[in-house]
Amino acid sequence: MDSPIAKDIRSGLAELAGNLRWTWSGEFEPLFSSIDQDLWREVNHNPVAFLAAVPDDRLQARAVEATYREALQHAIISLRQYLAEERHWGRRYAPGLQARPVAYFSAEVGLHESLPIYSGGLGVLAGDHLKSCSDLGVPIWGVTILYRQGYFSQEIDADGEQQERYVDLDMSRVPLEPALDARGERLFIQFPTANGVFPIDIWRARVGRGQLILLDGSRDPEVFHRDIFSRRLYGGDLRTRLLQELILGAGGYRALLSLGVRPGVVHLNEGHTAFAILEAIAQTMEEEGLPFDEAAARVRGRTVFTTHTPVGAGHDRFPADLIEEHLRPLRERLGLSLDRLLALGRMNPHDEREPFSMPVLALRFSHRSNAVSALHGRTSRTMWRVLWPELRTEQVPIGHVTNGVHVPTWIASDMARFFSDNLSPDWPKRLTHPDLWERIEGTPMSGLWRVKCLLRAQLLAFVERRLKTRHERLGLPGTPPQLDPFALTIGVARRVAEYKRAALLFSQPERLARLLADRERPVQLLFAGKAHPQDRPAKDILKEIVRLSAEPRFASRIVVLENHDMNLARHLVQGCDLWLNMPRRPLEASGTSGQKSVFNATLNMSVLDGWWAEAFDGGNGYAFGEGLTHADPLLQDRRDAADLFDTLERQVIPDFFERGPDGVPPRWMARIRRSLSTLGWRYNSDRMVIDYVLGAYLRAAGLLTSGRPGSA
Ligand SMILES: *Cc1c(COP(=O)(O)O)cnc(C)c1O
Repeated sequence: MDSPIAKDIRSGLAELAGNLRWTWSGEFEPLFSSIDQDLWREVNHNPVAFLAAVPDDRLQARAVEATYREALQHAIISLRQYLAEERHWGRRYAPGLQARPVAYFSAEVGLHESLPIYSGGLGVLAGDHLKSCSDLGVPIWGVTILYRQGYFSQEIDADGEQQERYVDLDMSRVPLEPALDARGERLFIQFPTANGVFPIDIWRARVGRGQLILLDGSRDPEVFHRDIFSRRLYGGDLRTRLLQELILGAGGYRALLSLGVRPGVVHLNEGHTAFAILEAIAQTMEEEGLPFDEAAARVRGRTVFTTHTPVGAGHDRFPADLIEEHLRPLRERLGLSLDRLLALGRMNPHDEREPFSMPVLALRFSHRSNAVSALHGRTSRTMWRVLWPELRTEQVPIGHVTNGVHVPTWIASDMARFFSDNLSPDWPKRLTHPDLWERIEGTPMSGLWRVKCLLRAQLLAFVERRLKTRHERLGLPGTPPQLDPFALTIGVARRVAEYKRAALLFSQPERLARLLADRERPVQLLFAGKAHPQDRPAKDILKEIVRLSAEPRFASRIVVLENHDMNLARHLVQGCDLWLNMPRRPLEASGTSGQKSVFNATLNMSVLDGWWAEAFDGGNGYAFGEGLTHADPLLQDRRDAADLFDTLERQVIPDFFERGPDGVPPRWMARIRRSLSTLGWRYNSDRMVIDYVLGAYLRAAGLLTSGRPGSA
């Protein structure tokens, strides 16, 4: 055996690594991990870094196996076929978008743990959106910032204090490539700010059939802006945020034009991206010689805005002097006085004390605006009514498209196999079909239960590895906690923020201890989440949970895991039995981690907020709390906590531990089947993208002329 074979294998694997499709095709991962499991973990599942580090002899050792070579060949062919496929949904239902693609702007994009430029749900949603557009054949260009240090990775010290670690991305090892111009030169744009012209490099990622471009301001290491705008996601002060958002929206729009992309639709994912509107208006004025108002009307006609916050105007606002400092060149191109520019971002255009609000700008200049669940739609219409004083609340033109998740990204491979065997071999292509999911009612309960037990065991093995690592790092005495493979395993993992109320569970520690200590019906809790570095109250919540988890009565029953990222999230949603969500209604606009759970036969237990308020039907999971919003949040918390424990004690635990003669829990399984059959077809991101295309994109691209104008 000599190195040409290793070379072949290496180039085959490199072809796979060259398109982020590997992040959601189940067959790619084992091709890497089976070469060297430890190295694969060490490089955080990054195939580019893996190939740079793996020695030839490891490749050769695998290459001698015909089954490995065949599997690799198969994966390459399937990638090529995927990319060449033309008979997809987009070609059939949205052919006009081929020439006028969607430009999708987002401050964070979560595609995979090896590209840490996301902090939580908003970014993961953006990544899932791009992936479903690829699967459906909806042409899309994502636009985001390449934060050279990304979002932090989290360690928790022995006192429960969160430590943030920032590491510079190694650009020779990220799964990205530089964007090139027609002559093969590196493409960059010169972006004018008030402090001078400033170069931005453009990187590119292939996301299946779609594209993502990433704006990188670190070309000139001396430039002071580098630290300012492109180092960390959500780092820095207001000035940093403003510069980041200016580069993201306005710079991103220019970057697309420099690549020859003429977007038919501009989709703004949250208010951070709204400066794309101003750049698009300026470009339209310059190209077509139109005055501001006419150019603005055109841009408005093709802009779609998705709002994600249920809390009002306090969000993402900038004072007038910062706006003038950084937007002056853009303002001059628009031919606007400072007052007129500021008025575009004020709820009351005449109120000179009002700061400039990004969501206000976005709402004013979008043809379609939407919230991310039905309940959030109602909250948003009430919240933004002031912008439409002549309308009644229910007429406010903000609709909703409920979020969904990209199933191939989030599903465990054993569960995917179960679906292939029991639903249909082509199930991933029919995610939005209710009849596909109804078939789950006819599948053997014991088969599905066995898969679930296997996934729980895999999760616990993963958790024990993590605990051992932390134990050794901190030099803690004794051995790390051992988990119980038969316990009802409850997951709580999301950003740590006050409104998400992770502490609700710990508000009655005696009751919790009693519940967890039951030997006949063991229960264990897995907890994970990052707090924003500047959010002291959130860090204190985390600290308190770590402190409780160390108490003897909770040892081995409450486990806190570090560094909640897409990798940990995947393990948790796949392996837990119950997924617990405790936000203070109505502050969770949608929530998506519970949707990831659905597809892994993990049951949801949640407050009736966000997506769950419309999804829960009494039998497809569990709800607690009254589904009301109290004026007094402490009263609301107390009542919700009492109901949380009642529901666990009276419903959840009995359902899980009542077993048939074969050891299978019939009531539990009935709920799982109902969860899949009622929720599967709706809460996936294919359905979400189809809703966006049919409800907003086609009209924005001028491809639909009939129908109801105005609101979504
Ligand atoms: C899905 C996901 C989230 C979002 O969870 P919510 O339920 O919306 O709070 C946050 N962080 C990570 C890493 C995720 O994968």
